[in-house]
Amino acid sequence: MSTIRLTKEFHFELAHALEGYDGACRNIHGHSYILFVTVIGSPISSVSNPKLGMIMDFGDLKGIVNSTIISRFDHALLLNQSSSMLKTLRAESFGKVESLPFQPTCENLLPYFAELISSRLPEGVKLHHLKLNETATSFAEWYASDNL
Ligand SMILES: [Zn+2]
Repeated sequence: MSTIRLTKEFHFELAHALEGYDGACRNIHGHSYILFVTVIGSPISSVSNPKLGMIMDFGDLKGIVNSTIISRFDHALLLNQSSSMLKTLRAESFGKVESLPFQPTCENLLPYFAELISSRLPEGVKLHHLKLNETATSFAEWYASDNL
């Protein structure tokens, strides 16, 4: 049976600020993120399965990423939980403000996203890697094989 990798691409707009950083990214600003989600598995061979010939339904992968990541972070402002800006922005009803217990860099988002996606994949399908573009020329990658 063949082993195949399947990738779906997601686009979302997210603002962040890297408090304490020694560059422009300490200010609140946004990125048009592109997230590539690659899973690995073998095509379903059971003829009674409606997903015959698929690793998993692209629509199901879309649903997992939309419900765990896109719905929460698209058009949100993401800050470190320890950020001094957090309390003020929430009190001012700034809008969709999210926080996580780490500095919201591309690198730190990847293992967090990997965990969210992995736990929802169907049996026999594994997350192979994630690629997250922060800009057109900058991206970070998470590989399951690097994180055993
Ligand atoms: Zn940034």
